[in-house]
Amino acid sequence: MNDDATLWQINIPVTYDYAQLYRYYEDPEGTECEECGAMLTITHDRFEAEWSDGSDQIGDFVSSIGDVVVRADIAAELLKKFRGATTQPVELADHPSLYRPKPPKQSRVKRVWLPYEGPELVWLKPSHSVPLLDQSTVEIDETCDSCGTIVYEQFLGVEEYNGVQHTPRDPDGGLFISAKAVGKHDLFGVECTGLFLVTTKFKQHIEKQGYTNIRFLNFGTLVG
Ligand SMILES: [Zn+2]
Repeated sequence: MNDDATLWQINIPVTYDYAQLYRYYEDPEGTECEECGAMLTITHDRFEAEWSDGSDQIGDFVSSIGDVVVRADIAAELLKKFRGATTQPVELADHPSLYRPKPPKQSRVKRVWLPYEGPELVWLKPSHSVPLLDQSTVEIDETCDSCGTIVYEQFLGVEEYNGVQHTPRDPDGGLFISAKAVGKHDLFGVECTGLFLVTTKFKQHIEKQGYTNIRFLNFGTLVG
């Protein structure tokens, strides 16, 4: 396997080393498939969140369940060099309980308090998306006859790591994606999956820059 053809899933560790954001659930606005209810086009999708208890340290990348949040200055640097993603503001929820208690010693909880004094943060999300090739080792739950949306049961053969247990990539399995579909993008989403993949070139850049609180899992291979 050519190393340069490996595709990586961005994985932001969930630990107490760095503060995590808890995103508020809000349905995105857009058009839905009348048959299966899948969102076909999204016109508005807000990112509002609050900090979770556990740490007052803000990493270069910030965990927010499945979403990728990054320092705005780093995102700007990355998007100058690499194609396939866009950013949106991170709005911090404003609620009296989220402000630093006075006097400070009243709270022993470690967390990022309001008023927020840390670096500006943005939500990084793919602006280009590609389908999976048939040779991908996936289990499909159902496919919508009307819009073609695929509901995946699971992805087999991909690298998994939760901080404790590690399963390496199965060299014959995982996700296979057409190099033609990816084109000149180094970041992209995979249709119907919520996955955000990057090329080896992007991964190597992040590692060279030494950005904190991000790792990569071997999920797939570029074909062709
Ligand atoms: Zn549908």
